[in-house]
Amino acid sequence: MASGTKGNGKENSTPRCIICGRSEEDGALLIGRSSGCICAECVENIHNYIQENQPAKDRGKLVSGVRDEFRELTPQKIHKYLDQYVIGQDEAKKFLSVAVYNHYKRILNQDSSDSSLELEKSNVLMVGPTGTGKTLLARSIAKMLHLPFAIVDATVLTEAGYVGEDVESILTRLLQDADYDVAKAEMGIVFIDEIDKIARKSDNPSITRDVSGEGVQQAMLKILEGNIVNVPPQGGRKHPEQKMIAVNTNNILFICGGAFEGIDKKIAQRLNTKVVGYGVQEKAKGVDRKNLLRYIAPQDLRSYGLIPELIGRLPVVTFLNPLGRDALMDILTQPKNALMKQYRQMFKLDGIDLKVDAEVLDLIVDTAIKYDLGARGLRSICEAIMVDAMYEAPSSDRKSFRVTLPYAKEKLGSFTGGLLIQN
Ligand code: ADP
Repeated sequence: MASGTKGNGKENSTPRCIICGRSEEDGALLIGRSSGCICAECVENIHNYIQENQPAKDRGKLVSGVRDEFRELTPQKIHKYLDQYVIGQDEAKKFLSVAVYNHYKRILNQDSSDSSLELEKSNVLMVGPTGTGKTLLARSIAKMLHLPFAIVDATVLTEAGYVGEDVESILTRLLQDADYDVAKAEMGIVFIDEIDKIARKSDNPSITRDVSGEGVQQAMLKILEGNIVNVPPQGGRKHPEQKMIAVNTNNILFICGGAFEGIDKKIAQRLNTKVVGYGVQEKAKGVDRKNLLRYIAPQDLRSYGLIPELIGRLPVVTFLNPLGRDALMDILTQPKNALMKQYRQMFKLDGIDLKVDAEVLDLIVDTAIKYDLGARGLRSICEAIMVDAMYEAPSSDRKSFRVTLPYAKEKLGSFTGGLLIQN
């Protein structure tokens, strides 16, 4: 093994790290030859230093293939792509398309000559009832761009040191999805679901520690705004020995979603008490009272319990509409991977031509509405109707199968109790 050159006598022959001077006796793992060893710890420190201080544009170059794809994009192309998978929600699609387009335009132009003007991040907040397509929109965007994607539930996050997951674990998922390719992860998309659940519980933040509310919002700020964050590669606190990975969140797009139940009251309040002229309070005219979410504004989020700093880091706010009967019917049959298309394909693989009568589709949608199951419930209703047929089909030699209304009603009849539980 290597021998050191420093010192006299016995010391002389002991190999040491040329940076920190430690020997194997001091517990250092030495790499190199007699002319100069370096210990593993110093190698790691240097690596981390480079990761943290390397200009972002150089990191971006590592994923040049991805960059070429972005150059082809326009907001309208993104919108069109989303149309294949998500029914309706045009407003959200438009906001999201523009935000995503701007976000990646910003990344592509980081190395342009006019670097004096810095384009800011456009993280997105989507507000809308559960099961209306928020996750689906975010997932579809990531799929389109072939980017690492992670879904995180904000309800499991707590302030560091308390039971639950540290906020940094948000990035662990993204790293895992990028197969620990840091440069790739640094251009990924994170969907933070149920962001409304970390709203401040009380108006007075000083009464008790709000470890799962305001504390988490505070902790989230540094991740959302663009910072170097030390991420535990395996997440959690179960592996205290794990070496942190430095991740720059500057180019990560954060899309947050939440139902914000009850926020319509705050919106209504604001719209009704808007002061006009000389302090005269006037009722808002021409307001769509059935869908107040469309008027959502940052001040409503603030009165709901999000802190202003967090709202400031989510500059794009959009809403999703509740799904009506027509939308549910379209979801069942229209998207590229619509449920009905999936069942047809499944039967086709067994050599069977599946036909579902139009009245059956009506029954499925009506049942979802009756039990208030939304789009998520469509699948369990379909399963209830199809399970027997799918059980028998592989061992039969039939070439076609037709689902009629009486058949569907019979299969569904014994299942409606279960549906209620699944809600
Ligand atoms: P959330 O708004 O709670 O994030 P999701 O996006 O997870 O809702 O929707 C749940 C499921 O319902 C999706 O996987 C999809 O199958 C269906 N779905 C909901 N909304 C739509 C929509 N607008 N278009 C197509 N499918 C939808």
